[in-house]
Amino acid sequence: MEVIFRNVSYSYDGINNAVDNISVFLDSNLIHGIIGPIGSGKSTMLELMNGIMKPTSGKVLIGKYDLSNEDGSFDFNKFRYDVGLVYQFPEKQFFCNTVGEEVAFAEKIFKTKNASIRKKVIDILKIVGLDESYISRNPFSLNGGEKRRVAIASVLISNPKVLILDEPTIGLDDKSKKRLMKLLKNLKVRYNKTIVIVTHDVDMLYEIVDNIVVLDKGKIISEGNKVNVFSNVEYLNKHNTPIPNIVRFEKKIYDKYGLDMGYIPNMNALIRKIADISKGGGPNER
Ligand code: ADP
Ligand code: MG
Repeated sequence: MEVIFRNVSYSYDGINNAVDNISVFLDSNLIHGIIGPIGSGKSTMLELMNGIMKPTSGKVLIGKYDLSNEDGSFDFNKFRYDVGLVYQFPEKQFFCNTVGEEVAFAEKIFKTKNASIRKKVIDILKIVGLDESYISRNPFSLNGGEKRRVAIASVLISNPKVLILDEPTIGLDDKSKKRLMKLLKNLKVRYNKTIVIVTHDVDMLYEIVDNIVVLDKGKIISEGNKVNVFSNVEYLNKHNTPIPNIVRFEKKIYDKYGLDMGYIPNMNALIRKIADISKGGGPNER
């Protein structure tokens, strides 16, 4: 399911546009990142995808759902089933005493109770990397990474086609972060989800996303394939865009030695690349 913004503006105060005439097409089965400095409109853009907040003008379409539609033809219950939102603070989402109940909740409201729910909960927990023993645990007692996994599981249980996450790596340690990144990649590749991530964590994004939308002052200033978007660091700097450390490093190498190291997703890959270069494998010279 694709997400489309067509000339979308949103104003909180009727004077300034927090999101200002945005048009973008976020294609199916890809991971999309939304970045930009504080106050650039990231959260507003995400909230316009939640089916509750309507644009001041323009259209927001997710698959067959027209979220800007006020005529009552928009079926919120069906929409919730297809589009899952994971909020920044997962504990805000929790209200059950056990992980099992928490994850099963969406299933219970959307479908009649049946004996297969437990099995389904176990399957979903497995997908997010938690074993069966978590079912009886209190979600509030888990660590940050586990909480985020439970929050994602409770959204995944209704098998949404689109998964939207607000700052998913905030407060996670390195190991939890790596596991979450692997999970998100897996959800795209194996389960064909369309994933939209709003984050300030550009290093994480650079590794896992396909496309990036860059916002500044409510407008899209760049958009598309991540490598293309980050190929113009000077332009992005002018717009106070956060730049991945690897991109900064590569730019220094390019400026100093004229070496184009190509796309490097993370530190391990960078170390391997440098080892290759020093062995004489050589980068691509421009
Ligand atoms: P970001 O998530 O990129 O930091 P936001 O979407 O939260 O940006 O904010 C975009 C603009 O809208 C900012 O100027 C912000 O002050 C304003 N804004 C955000 N939320 C509200 C609100 N609830 N009421 C009034 N103004 C808001
Ligand atoms: Mg925000």
